[in-house]
Amino acid sequence: MQIKTAFSMIKLTVIGVIATTLIACGPEKQTSATTEAAQQQTYKWKMVTSWPKNFTGLGTSAEKFASLVSEMSAGRLKIKVYGAGELVPALQVFDAVSQGTAEMGHSSAYYWKGKTPAAQFFTTVPFGLTAQEMNGWIYHGGGLELWQELYAPFNLIPLAAGNTGVQMGGWFNKEINSVNDLQGLKMRIPGLGGEVLKRAGGTPVMLAGGEVFTSLQTGVIDATEWVGPYNDLAFGLHKAAKYYYYPGWHEPGSMMEITVNKNAFNALPKDLQTILEVAAKASNVDMMAEFTAQNKSALTELVDKHGVELRALPNDVLATLRDVSKEVVAEIAAADPASQKVYDSYIKYRDSVVKYHAISEQSFINAR
Ligand code: CA
Repeated sequence: MQIKTAFSMIKLTVIGVIATTLIACGPEKQTSATTEAAQQQTYKWKMVTSWPKNFTGLGTSAEKFASLVSEMSAGRLKIKVYGAGELVPALQVFDAVSQGTAEMGHSSAYYWKGKTPAAQFFTTVPFGLTAQEMNGWIYHGGGLELWQELYAPFNLIPLAAGNTGVQMGGWFNKEINSVNDLQGLKMRIPGLGGEVLKRAGGTPVMLAGGEVFTSLQTGVIDATEWVGPYNDLAFGLHKAAKYYYYPGWHEPGSMMEITVNKNAFNALPKDLQTILEVAAKASNVDMMAEFTAQNKSALTELVDKHGVELRALPNDVLATLRDVSKEVVAEIAAADPASQKVYDSYIKYRDSVVKYHAISEQSFINAR
């Protein structure tokens, strides 16, 4: 059952920098243990996750992070990783780390919108930032400081820990040729994307991960989004739907998070704190690289071997979803002061980076 719970959470997704050279962006106001005893002490920590143990790309990233920390610290900080449900259920990671049941968590911030709605901005926003742009905002655009401020009342320190990149639009058994085809469309699409679909005339359906395949196959739903080719192929969704639409307008770069209990963090000597921050950055780079490499191979397999029909969402459909997204996201921001503060920073950064990327990344990719 826990596996099911965890699967239902995986509407997820992930960015990059060479971590070894960059340590300057961690929490700056934290204290650290400075005694000789603390320097020599061996720390054994627990990390709870929202993923089934070793789940493709996400669970495996948490395991790699733990190994890296152990190696970098010469065994002084050892982290045991727990799959969803092994120590706490998938959706109790935030509380467990906040309360100190575990020292660390590996999850995604949009699960915690019930705790603080602004958390959603730290995973992904429909028509929002790409993975690379998100890194710019987090590390050099004030995003991380806002995130730390948001989590401080919960006794948590957040770290960016990976990104899936642009997800796919999803698997459909109904063609989408115009905005009319969205009317009454029954689609499993959680989060902000679901809100947008609803306002555009569709019917977002909440389903546990374990129910998605059968519901799609039997026509209970017309469509589902999941992640991207790497995860979707592993899940077998091509056996339940005819069309594979792109792009994933609703999740343009879903970021993973590592949370650290603040008391546990402050009890570490400075070098171990730095190791955690650098290892998180390494994870952030590595997950994005893994998804980029694996997604392209998986897509080739889906199309060439399994005959999947790849389709682009029509421009007018995307334009409608874009307009609706703006309204929905602005309304969520206006609902509480913390969300408004994060939204203002996010949108200001988004508008300027979109303008710049129009003449850099976008222009180059169009020309290539
Ligand atoms: Ca998704």
